Amino acid sequence: MARIVQKFGGTSVGDLDRIRNVAQRVKAEVDAGNEVAVVVSAMSGTTNQLVEWARDIGPLHDAREYDTIVATGEQVTVGLLAIALQNSGIDARSWLGWQVPFKTDSTHSSARIEEIQAEEIAKRLSNGQVAVVAGFQGVSDEGRITTLGRGGSDTSAVALAAALNADRCDIYTDVDGVYTTDPRIMPKARKLDQITFEEMLEMASAGAKVLQTRSVAMGMRHNVKIQVRSSFNDEPGTMVVDEDNQMEQQKISGIAYSADEARITIVGLQDKPGVAAGIFKALADAHVNIDMIVQSGSASHDTTDITFSVSASDAQKANAVIEGLKSDLPYEHIVSDTNIAKISIIGTAMRTQAGIANMMFSSLSDKGVNLQVISTSEIKISVLIDSAYTELAVRTLHDAFELHLA
Ligand code: ADP
Ligand code: ASP
Ligand code: MG
Repeated sequence: MARIVQKFGGTSVGDLDRIRNVAQRVKAEVDAGNEVAVVVSAMSGTTNQLVEWARDIGPLHDAREYDTIVATGEQVTVGLLAIALQNSGIDARSWLGWQVPFKTDSTHSSARIEEIQAEEIAKRLSNGQVAVVAGFQGVSDEGRITTLGRGGSDTSAVALAAALNADRCDIYTDVDGVYTTDPRIMPKARKLDQITFEEMLEMASAGAKVLQTRSVAMGMRHNVKIQVRSSFNDEPGTMVVDEDNQMEQQKISGIAYSADEARITIVGLQDKPGVAAGIFKALADAHVNIDMIVQSGSASHDTTDITFSVSASDAQKANAVIEGLKSDLPYEHIVSDTNIAKISIIGTAMRTQAGIANMMFSSLSDKGVNLQVISTSEIKISVLIDSAYTELAVRTLHDAFELHLA
């Protein structure tokens, strides 16, 4: 007998037939003698609709009310799945975030889980009841509903698996595992049998939304056995493993992209201590998340340019912050471009193999793709490019690194 957390994403619970299909998958685990907690997302499209309504009613809305609105999608699916399970003869009940509770901080719309008090659920699991838990949501110290950021049900599931000391956390989605890149834009993408936590963390943070970044970090920290698999077939999925257990060792493991980036360059800043600190403090105070940063000196040596990237949705805010700084930190002008994509290649083999950056840059330049900003970490190289070339860049790199070959 094992204790299992199963998580089903939006497409997997997209309509009533699919919810019945999910109930059968849960039943199969129960019939096999396992204790099962299920975490579900909202029906696909629902959260987008809720976010749109919240934005339309007030662009500068109260973030606490935003969370109250967007958390409702999961309330529908937990209830529906609990009934579908009961109809199949399974003892099941639904749990909202606050009922468990999933205690979070008060960072509304991207709250962090601080503690899950899972004793009651654990007790019921051992009595044979299935717990159907709403993903994506929690409750703050002030007793307000919080949400964990888009894609956050993955994190709910992994955190619940850790709190319940589960043997496995199976993430059921609309693809049958983690691929070398998004199979939607590269038909030749290959499913990986395994990926290391570290690589998966970099893939997710570079834009591969198959797992929310925080869920991977959580799994790594608490040693949760995570498997990504399809809710529509029985193919074996992808196991997220520690590096020691990794079998494959190719030049790179995967390619990720994020098409919603913006690049901002501040031209003609004074070249003196404190300038970069002043800019990035003001941006941090405004809660703008910065990704890449490059500073370059000018020919005259007394001025400098700073280029950084943010998500496209933060570009306007970032521009406004920098315009507000002009009297204290003078500069010539700002250049801002929101049609930017970030393409990243990821692999632990980068630590030991030479020539990987060169291969990336030369294959992109052969296709006429201009690299605007480059950044590297131990196991990742990222470039910013014009977003019109996103698919071309991903496919070119996939071919260049022969990722279709096992
Ligand atoms: P869910 O609703 O089940 O949480 P998501 O849409 O959040 O599903 O994540 C699954 C999607 O992630 C896939 O449909 C796929 O397009 C995308 N994706 C991006 N990169 C990858 C990758 N490397 N491997 C698999 N899927 C990926
Ligand atoms: N329903 C939420 C979203 O669409 C959470 C999730 O699907 O993981 O972001
Ligand atoms: Mg998701």
